Amino acid sequence: MHIPTLIEHKRDGGALTSEEIHFVISAFTRGDMPEYQMSALAMAIFFRDMTPEETAALTEAMLHSGSMLLWNDHDPMRVDKHSTGGIGDKTSLILAPLLACDNVWVPMISGRGLGITGGTLDKLESIPGFRTQLNEVEIHNVIDRIGCVMVGQTTGICPADKKLYALRDVTGTVPSVPLITASIMSKKLAEGLNRLVLDVKWGSGAFMKTQEEAHRLAHSLVTVGEAMGVRSSVRLSEMNEPTGESAGNALEVAECVRCLKGEGPQDLEDIVLDLASAVSVSSRADLASMLHRGDAWRKFQKMVAAQGGNVDALEKMATVHRAPFIGELKATASGTLTRMDAGGIGQAVLELGAGRSKAADPIDFAVGCDQIAKTGKQVQTGDVLLRVHARTKGALFRTLDILQEHISIV
Ligand code: URA
Repeated sequence: MHIPTLIEHKRDGGALTSEEIHFVISAFTRGDMPEYQMSALAMAIFFRDMTPEETAALTEAMLHSGSMLLWNDHDPMRVDKHSTGGIGDKTSLILAPLLACDNVWVPMISGRGLGITGGTLDKLESIPGFRTQLNEVEIHNVIDRIGCVMVGQTTGICPADKKLYALRDVTGTVPSVPLITASIMSKKLAEGLNRLVLDVKWGSGAFMKTQEEAHRLAHSLVTVGEAMGVRSSVRLSEMNEPTGESAGNALEVAECVRCLKGEGPQDLEDIVLDLASAVSVSSRADLASMLHRGDAWRKFQKMVAAQGGNVDALEKMATVHRAPFIGELKATASGTLTRMDAGGIGQAVLELGAGRSKAADPIDFAVGCDQIAKTGKQVQTGDVLLRVHARTKGALFRTLDILQEHISIV
């Protein structure tokens, strides 16, 4: 097959066959298709889109570019969730241990922060000693003993996605429904799942800015999941204000510990229970009881220990990673809090150092925002609307200033 001809065909709005897509992905994975050709093809896909059949073929080709987690027939059902990412989105840390209390297995392969959205692996790595890079033998070992594991992509799983994602990141081709679908679903399908729930977010703090875009992505993800034999469902959620009350790695782990002990916050607990009940065999009410009884908290501690993390640090995350400068943003008027803009807060937290601008950038686990008030709340002048945790005094005052613009009280 002649790769330039395939690129031209897609550029001119044609559809590629399954054989052509498998050929391209395998040539790219082997290193026989140069990055400039793959970039051109990604851009052609970005503008010309793909049919559901092409998207399914691309997902399959990326899935088979590497290995899969293999399970035995008598193993418990495997379930997982995937979120398209948001600000303060920390649900995975609660959901995985909760589901593992329900006699299903959760082999969760997660990602790092992307743009302004935080990443599960970065949050987990704020727990001293926690190892997110396990090999496939270690993954099976932790799952066998605990029922859940939370890790990064291994070198063997979906190498085509690893290469293609890095290229998309620097060629303006991330926000394409077929490319996002194939990227997400190839990794999730490599987990060998029976059930998957997709948390597709839209709003200022999400990749999809409108509900319509989120619908289109959700439909594409579920169509591919179902076609490949995984029972897939979706929860569409608005991401115009942060989830829970914190954004920033260690601050979010501290909030998860509170939620795992049944101490809310309510919006976070609600999302976790909605998502968990979509893939669980138990009812939402039973899952809520498990959470409130502390079952998920005990399971989380066991998982942290199994992955090398310091369990004693979990209840002291705010002191283990204490930013030198903490300041309060106070209401300048009385009324109803109508806007706590997720996009603005995400950008501010990224600039404080909680995320990366380049893949090699280090992460500052301590910085971020906490005590973030929820919209709809009645506030009085002088009430604390959020706290900023910063590495320098300059960063603290700059962030407090910027965040004023992202909050409205009427
Ligand atoms: N997350 C992924 O894993 N891939 C994408 O393309 C977008 C978000």
